[in-house]
Amino acid sequence: HHELCENQRSTEVLRAPVICVLGHVDAGKTTILDNLRQTHVQDNEAGGITQQIGATNVPSETIYRRTEMCREMISREGDFIVPGLLIIDTPGHEIFKSLRSRGSSLCDLAILVVDIMHGVAPQTIESIQLLVERQTPFIIALNKQYLEGMTFYESIYCLNSKVDLLYDWKSNNKKSIELVLQEQQQITQNHFEKCCKTIICQFAEQNLNVALYYENPDPNEYYSMVPTSARSGDGMGSLIALIIEKSQTTLSRRISYTHELQATVMEVKVIDGFGITIDVALVNGYLSVGDKILIAGQEGPIVTQIRRLLIPESNQELRTTNQYQNEDTIKGARGIKIVARGLEKAMAGLPLFVARQTDEIDFYKNEINIMLKTALNSIQLE
Ligand code: GDP
Repeated sequence: HHELCENQRSTEVLRAPVICVLGHVDAGKTTILDNLRQTHVQDNEAGGITQQIGATNVPSETIYRRTEMCREMISREGDFIVPGLLIIDTPGHEIFKSLRSRGSSLCDLAILVVDIMHGVAPQTIESIQLLVERQTPFIIALNKQYLEGMTFYESIYCLNSKVDLLYDWKSNNKKSIELVLQEQQQITQNHFEKCCKTIICQFAEQNLNVALYYENPDPNEYYSMVPTSARSGDGMGSLIALIIEKSQTTLSRRISYTHELQATVMEVKVIDGFGITIDVALVNGYLSVGDKILIAGQEGPIVTQIRRLLIPESNQELRTTNQYQNEDTIKGARGIKIVARGLEKAMAGLPLFVARQTDEIDFYKNEINIMLKTALNSIQLE
């Protein structure tokens, strides 16, 4: 329904686009997520992030700061900037599959992570199929430009005992990756080009045209690739800038903010002091304390009322334990936690509705019953 009226939407006010990260195991999805969110799930002190909400909000100030070196990539910078990014915390295509609402996907833009040394792998292909099927635009991150203390060329030539020849990748996360590549030695550039060519062929075998973002002849026809090193941060500014550019151009209608509610239950969790809570990706529209909400439950639709709306206190404090901030009203796109009664049988993966008028309750109950039936059928088919 919302896709039908997309053309009529204004692009004056945008919401944060919802970003998912997919790709083969070990390609660097978690490391890319950590870098985007500026968190360190992998090597974090004492237990890591304790209070994820399933989706992390990256504020526009952070985006602005991180894209300093490649602002020229953002064509509408003077007009406005998207008010942040909403990054789905769980990497991989399973989450993408389970978080669907009536055929359309929750994710506005995906990052498909490909290990530059290993190229297209089985789970890359699965991810591509899913993205194409859902018509979800994506950007390819050619990750792991170099290994810690070693270039990726070295890592190959190590086997040939020619390490000294190839100690040459000069890491720099303060410049655009295009410039950083230009400043490498010729041998490094040659090897990079060879890897790229292989990957371009592998994508062509999947019937997809891909090109390095700075060589892309037509972004409507070619998927862009951004070389990255998630660990050192090389290329991450360019990747973020490209996400913003795409969001503010081809995706602007899709991510225009309207009051039409679009929300998905991502997780059902017990939290000390709050009991059973649901983590929700509030994509569009707004929710307020006191709203009557309807969600799917194991025994049918659940009707309840929002008692508290919580968000993490700030990016920094994600690391401390259970610090939530109470809000009266929250606009999408945000990851939020809802405290309410009667959530014992709540189910994740399906939409959340709000009944602002009494007669809407039966309408949404019916919608949820249909969705539950469809979900059950697809499970039986699998
Ligand atoms: P995932 O399975 O796709 O989530 O991959 P991870 O993010 O867990 O990364 C797999 C391994 O590759 C980890 O040991 C990471 O530290 C490492 N890694 C990820 N990105 C990079 C990178 O840019 N450079 C290097 N050298 N290692 C990386």
